[in-house]
Parts: sequence; C-alpha cells; structure tokens
Amino acid sequence: MGLKSEWLGTEEVPASLSFLIMAGHADSQGIKGAGTAGEAVDIKGKMPMDSSMSDELFWNLKIRDAIVQVGKERGLNINAYAPGVRNIVDGNDPLTNWSAGARHVRQGGYAIEIHFDSYGEYGLGSGLIPPISRGLNTVDESLANSFGRYPMFFRGGLGAPRRGIRILEIGKLEGKLERGLRNLNSRHKVIQDLALRVVEALVLGVSNKKVFNRSLDEVDIVRPVPDR
Ligand SMILES: [Zn+2]
Repeated sequence: MGLKSEWLGTEEVPASLSFLIMAGHADSQGIKGAGTAGEAVDIKGKMPMDSSMSDELFWNLKIRDAIVQVGKERGLNINAYAPGVRNIVDGNDPLTNWSAGARHVRQGGYAIEIHFDSYGEYGLGSGLIPPISRGLNTVDESLANSFGRYPMFFRGGLGAPRRGIRILEIGKLEGKLERGLRNLNSRHKVIQDLALRVVEALVLGVSNKKVFNRSLDEVDIVRPVPDR
C-alpha cells in the first residue's frame, strides 16, 4: 500500500466477539458496483467463472465460506451473511450487505465484507479499509498488520465503512493469484491459505496478546498463531 494510513486499532474486544462475514458485491450484480471481472476476463479474454456474476463475486463467495468454515474450526463466533437476492437496487434495502452489516455492528458485532481487488491500475492491493469510527479495535489492528492498512477516509468514505462495516481487500485479481484460483489443481489450496490467513488475524485480534508494535515483516515471516 502506497497510501498514507494513520490509524491504530487499540480498543479491546471480547474473545466471544461475533463476526459476520460477507462477500463483496453479493447483492449488486447487474447494477453499479458488481465487482471486477478480473484480469483473466477483462484483459485476457477468458470465459467468466460463472456467467451470472462477476469473477470477483465468484471468488468473494468462495473465500467468505472458507473463512467461516476455518473460523468455526478455530473456535471463533463466526457466521456468513448471504443476501439471497443478487441485484438489490436500493443500498438501504434490509437485505443488503450494508443493512445486515450495520445491524450486526449496532448489536456489538464485527461485520466485514471480503473483496478481491481490481487488477492493474484499477486496484491498490491488499489491505483493511477501516470503518469511519473512533472505536477501531485490536481485530482491525491485527488484520491491518497482516494484510495492510488503507486510510480511514479512503475514497471519501465508502458506503460500508460509513455504516461501521470493515472491508478487506485481497489483492489483486490478476497474475499469479488469479491463475492460482482458476487452476483446478491449486484452487482449493489458494482459497484455504487465504482463509487461514484471515482467520489467524481474527484469532490474534480477539486474543489478549498484544498485536501492536510489530512490524509488517515480522508478521509476514512468523505469522504467529496464539494458543487457544
Ligand atoms: Zn470489490
């Protein structure tokens, strides 16, 4: 991330923190913000993974479900949200990710939408876009340490962060990562590895171990997993 990002998540959270995992663009196919088609489709002329949705959503759904599965195995209080309808025009419809996430946040939970970032010049890469809030917590800090840190007012404050919802960008839907996802021999492992990396960051974020004052390098090399 080349962006200047000055924030720190210090608020402590309970180990029982309720996580709601959402797939970016799950509710907005066919209208604005359907998600990136990816480099393979847009640049290289490959067939979409599923003609009914953007390639980004196809992968967002897979990673959402893998995160929830691995998270449950690791003892997290974690669930997926599926809007059930693919093209909701009104962002404030009660079924949208925004509405479900905002409700979850109001009840004291942690709602996060997973995205694969756009290829090439359209994307910036991995990182956590924090909510626009004073209460940034140790889970935010842990995810930012692991994936990178977007500024709080990224693009002037997106719809999700204005509703207290976190966005995790996984970068980018191009090159080696996209090829690894599309290749049936590596797909499962690429998705599981990404899910594990997210879950490890969540577990670390709700543990009482310090997630601060460590460099990104240390996290990348050691990627500590706390005992539970
Ligand atoms: Zn997206």
